[in-house]
Amino acid sequence: MAEIQLLDQKTIDNIAAGEVIERPASVVKELVENAIDAKATAVTVEIRDGGMTLMRVTDNGCGIPKEEVRTAFLRHATSKIRTVEDLVSVSSLGFRGEALSSISAVGQVEVITKTAGAFSGVSYKIFGGEEQGLDEIGAPDGTTFLVRNLFYNTPARRKFLKSPVTEAGYVEQIMVHMALSHPDIAFKFIHNSKNKMYTSGNGNVKDIIYHLYGRDVAGALLPISLKGPTVSVDGYVGKPFISRGNRNYESYFINGRYIKSKIIYKAIEDGYKTFTMAHKYPFVCLNIEVEPELLDVNVHPTKMEIRFRNEKELYELLASGIKETLSHREMIPKAELGK
Ligand code: ADP
Ligand code: MG
Repeated sequence: MAEIQLLDQKTIDNIAAGEVIERPASVVKELVENAIDAKATAVTVEIRDGGMTLMRVTDNGCGIPKEEVRTAFLRHATSKIRTVEDLVSVSSLGFRGEALSSISAVGQVEVITKTAGAFSGVSYKIFGGEEQGLDEIGAPDGTTFLVRNLFYNTPARRKFLKSPVTEAGYVEQIMVHMALSHPDIAFKFIHNSKNKMYTSGNGNVKDIIYHLYGRDVAGALLPISLKGPTVSVDGYVGKPFISRGNRNYESYFINGRYIKSKIIYKAIEDGYKTFTMAHKYPFVCLNIEVEPELLDVNVHPTKMEIRFRNEKELYELLASGIKETLSHREMIPKAELGK
């Protein structure tokens, strides 16, 4: 065997990028999460060729101060936590300081950003982890990321991508989840110059469901609002008859974060058990609020998994709450249901 040596930073970043950035949709997820953390009220995502040639994410958030732009692209550089203690109560979507370094390791990135207080903006380019230049330029307040030619330097990864249409579909799913979990933000998604999705940002989840899923789904929703000692749930559950053969209709968010959780799937399934046929999955859109101290969001680099300290309470509140809501549906006035 060869001598043991520490890998150089570029190689480290490239390997680590593999954990966070799997496909164009992972880039969009990370950049939109950053926009949300930056308190943006409008976020536009435009992609070309399924995101393979270009992804552009524009927000009107706080911007990155000029003297911090370079640092933002360093691995483990973050403005969101300072110590391991902060992890316990983290409320931002990001905190690992890995997205920008990962994306710039496997793509050609340009960021244009300006804070409200600055006279001018800055453009910074970094391709495959190599800085290309930092320039002062005129720019509106907020941040635009352009990512070109994802995986241009890792052909093995590029080969695993599906067709542009399929990749664009993954991006659209991310956008749907972002929109449903952040109804106060106006989202726009454009693929190959075609408008695929937009939301108004008026805060009304039902409007978004109507817009994204159509009238039949929006007309078959039951509002649900549950409160336990450490968990609360708000949102909509679909009447059983709109259930379908896959889980694409199930969205739930923990403190504004889209995640996947076996325990929540199970609670939904058990809540619907006596109302749907086997292998049918309902429409649900649930915003679940849990005290941050009872969560561990730092389970996986993609932050799609979460551990709950109050798993049992969450399961029981959800399963019994859904069951209850469905049993009472005839008592809800028709006029309410149609809204
Ligand atoms: P994390 O989100 O985990 O902090 P990232 O690598 O995604 O790590 O981003 C690094 C830092 O860059 C963030 O902590 C934030 O300060 C800054 N940043 C990234 N994107 C934006 C944005 N759209 N608006 C303002 N600041 C941003
Ligand atoms: Mg981030």
